[in-house]
Amino acid sequence: MMPIEKSDRLKNLPPYLFKELDRQKEEVRARGVDIIDLGVGDPDLPTPPHIIEALQRAAADPSNHRYPSYSGMARFNSAVAAWYRHRFGVELDSSSEVVTLIGSKEGLAHLPLAFINSGDLALVPSPAYPVYDIAVQFAGGRSVFMDLRRENDFLPDIDGIPEETARRARLLFINYPNNPTSATASLEFFNEVAAFARRHNIIVCHDAAYTELSFDGYRPPSFMQAEGAMEVGIEFHSLSKTYNMTGWRIGFAVGRREIVQALGQVKSNIDSGAFQAVQIAGIEALEADQACVREATETYRRRRDVLVDGLRSLGLEVARPKATFYLWIETPQGYNSAQFAAHLLTRAGIVATPGNGFGAPGEGYVRMALTVDEDRLREALDRMRDIGF
Ligand SMILES: *Cc1c(COP(=O)(O)O)cnc(C)c1O
Repeated sequence: MMPIEKSDRLKNLPPYLFKELDRQKEEVRARGVDIIDLGVGDPDLPTPPHIIEALQRAAADPSNHRYPSYSGMARFNSAVAAWYRHRFGVELDSSSEVVTLIGSKEGLAHLPLAFINSGDLALVPSPAYPVYDIAVQFAGGRSVFMDLRRENDFLPDIDGIPEETARRARLLFINYPNNPTSATASLEFFNEVAAFARRHNIIVCHDAAYTELSFDGYRPPSFMQAEGAMEVGIEFHSLSKTYNMTGWRIGFAVGRREIVQALGQVKSNIDSGAFQAVQIAGIEALEADQACVREATETYRRRRDVLVDGLRSLGLEVARPKATFYLWIETPQGYNSAQFAAHLLTRAGIVATPGNGFGAPGEGYVRMALTVDEDRLREALDRMRDIGF
């Protein structure tokens, strides 16, 4: 048979760090253990009914069955602009400063193709959502990692970026509220990032997937609210986590027109836009009463408190996050990330994600997602109490 040789691009991908965990998971499952999966950041709650009904109506309309517009439906993009004005007080021109995405991952993955030439640098946080680094590599660039450490509240040390690196960097990725650390950032921090980016002509790419999942009255800011952000920034949003729509594949990016439009140009050569019926359901999500978001965040808040209180009573160190549905938990004495995740899985049937899988500075942590109900969280805590560590 003809040998199948993969591209260097695939061969050079960073090693998949969850392979051993996946193997252990299969083994535990084969033993018939009832697994409690706190590993995946995928809401267990259903999409709210009014959004599903909007899709059903739109799907039945033949005018939605053809290719959509590349940059998104004008109505979707103007719903996004109105949502931004209302939520963040940021004014956008919906015809040039908004692009519809087939999920924000799609946009994040395509952005480097618009701005990275072979050998260019991008500043990428670590630990982080893996897409930023891989997308930079796919575009032929190289990531320079900005470590997120507890002593800096899991914010990158912008002042510590060497002058030479800053001079050569084209892109800078940030993500707050943050996956996996659940840290939040202030508008002052965003101002600092925008000033740095303006000084060095760097495009700031803010992944804002979790701005709507916040607790205790805290409202996360948009990077676009920062001074000068409209000059250097693009911000990615997702309907996935806010409205429990991960499977629907709909998101959007906003920002400086030249940046947004360059991303649109890449996309127009790769995909043909999001299904219009899904965009119409997205308009409904953004424009309807946001009670469904308040209910979902209240559910996550209760789960957060059950799990944080329970883990602390077991002696584990964990912050009570102001946003996201993740807990970033320090591994106990004597365990690294992989060992602690393996202990939880093989002894208690609990899946947690080893922190180093998101980048080396994530060593010493595991991430748990609040995507199972309170009874299951209590069950997980009981099992952890039984096995000890
Ligand atoms: C879930 C997630 C996304 C992807 O969301 P989609 O819109 O479903 O593609 C992007 N960034 C982060 C940090 C996420 O956790």
